[in-house]
Amino acid sequence: MKQLIFLKPVFKETVWGGSRLQEVFGYKIPSNHTGECWGISAHKNGDCEVASGPWAGQRLSSLWRNHKELFGSSANHEEFPLLVKIIDAREDLSIQVHPDDAYAAAHENGSLGKMECWYILDCEPGTTIVIGHNARTQEELRRMIQEKRWKEFIRQIPVKKGDVFRIDPGCVHAIKGGTLLLETQQSSDITYRVYDYDRLSDGKPRELHIKQSLDVIQVPFDSGAQPTPWVERECSGGRKTLLASCSRYTCFKLDINTSWREDFGQEFTNVSILEGEGCVDGTPVAKGQHFIIPADYGECRFEGQLSLIGSQPR
Ligand code: ZN
Repeated sequence: MKQLIFLKPVFKETVWGGSRLQEVFGYKIPSNHTGECWGISAHKNGDCEVASGPWAGQRLSSLWRNHKELFGSSANHEEFPLLVKIIDAREDLSIQVHPDDAYAAAHENGSLGKMECWYILDCEPGTTIVIGHNARTQEELRRMIQEKRWKEFIRQIPVKKGDVFRIDPGCVHAIKGGTLLLETQQSSDITYRVYDYDRLSDGKPRELHIKQSLDVIQVPFDSGAQPTPWVERECSGGRKTLLASCSRYTCFKLDINTSWREDFGQEFTNVSILEGEGCVDGTPVAKGQHFIIPADYGECRFEGQLSLIGSQPR
């Protein structure tokens, strides 16, 4: 029988990060400026180590290369396709945009593009989020950016706990200080910074990527592309909500009251525990843990009070 693959997260210190990864999730973080917890990643900039079981100590990338049987049909991709992180923004993040696979392959050394999906875990009342922009044409986009008409350019909307956002390549986006979220994305680290609020880091402004941004920003912004979560299955034991689905992955939330059984089928499934504690097939799990259910694992049995976010490649 296949075993669950528990992973040790990789932490990233950032100028905008805070300390809630420790306060909320109990992680041992490197400093009070820790912005990201890469919970499930085989990316070269943060390759998670397997925490226990027969592959303890190996990197996820090495499991990906050497144990294709664990990963189902997506195992024919060269790289592990997804990356799951928790982000704690104490300060506003720069306004950014990501390329698609074709642009990244041509301009970023064959990297994957980046399609991402956010689940908002927490934010202060009154917080906003930047999703999209207000330029109607390519020419207006160019002028707004060159003339630094940022207030007019960025599209800000209110945000609250439990909101879900889909960030396709070409979508201008940013979170504001006080936002804690879980991000499911393609395994890519390519980000183009459009605007950084004219902030200084070590006395100088951080590099902007205006040319690349102009190349990849979608005009006009399509506000209809945002997902509408829906309850796929509900019973006394719990509830499964489909959060978002795109060409690269499907993302869901499980809120378990007592117990839940599910066969996740022929693809592997990433799982991040957001709340509570319990067991998965007899192994104790708690808030903050990340693991992979291998492809063709068979029925998986969760017990306890647990909220988790899962994702599967497509
Ligand atoms: Zn992003």
